[in-house]
Formats: sequence, structure tokens, C-alpha cells
Amino acid sequence: MSTPPSALGAQGPARKPVRLCVRCDRITDEPVVVSEVHSGSGPGFNVYACPACAPCFPPLPDVLELFEDRGGSAGAGKGAG
Ligand SMILES: [Zn+2]
Repeated sequence: MSTPPSALGAQGPARKPVRLCVRCDRITDEPVVVSEVHSGSGPGFNVYACPACAPCFPPLPDVLELFEDRGGSAGAGKGAG
């Protein structure tokens, strides 16, 4: 009955999402979102930086802070596509 959408299939090897660092203009396979650009109409986009440059940017306001009640030191999260 309730069959979950199977996103997993016989696909090729997982490719690391690479992004261009907005600061040093280098390709990084560990992009860090440093800014969110919201478009007037339509989806916005994120600005990425490499881990080395990420600390140079001010921290993003994270809505999760509102729920810091959970107080968990879980992992940094998974790569959100
Ligand atoms: Zn960089």
C-alpha cells in the first residue's frame, strides 16, 4: 500500500557535488553555503565557498537555532543537494 518512493536505483557511482568558491574561485568538493540569494520570482540560489574561505564569511542565520532546545552535537549534516 504505502510504498515509499524509491530514490535508490541502479545508478552510477555517487558523484561529489562540486562548487565554485565565491572567494578564491576554486573548485571545492566540500562546498559550504555562505550566503543565500533569494530571487524575486523563482528559486534563489546559494553562494558557496570552500572550507578554507568559509570562516571568512559571517555565519548564516540558522533557523535551527530556534530549536537549539534539542541540544545535540550531531554531525554537521549531510550534503543537501
Ligand atoms: Zn575558497
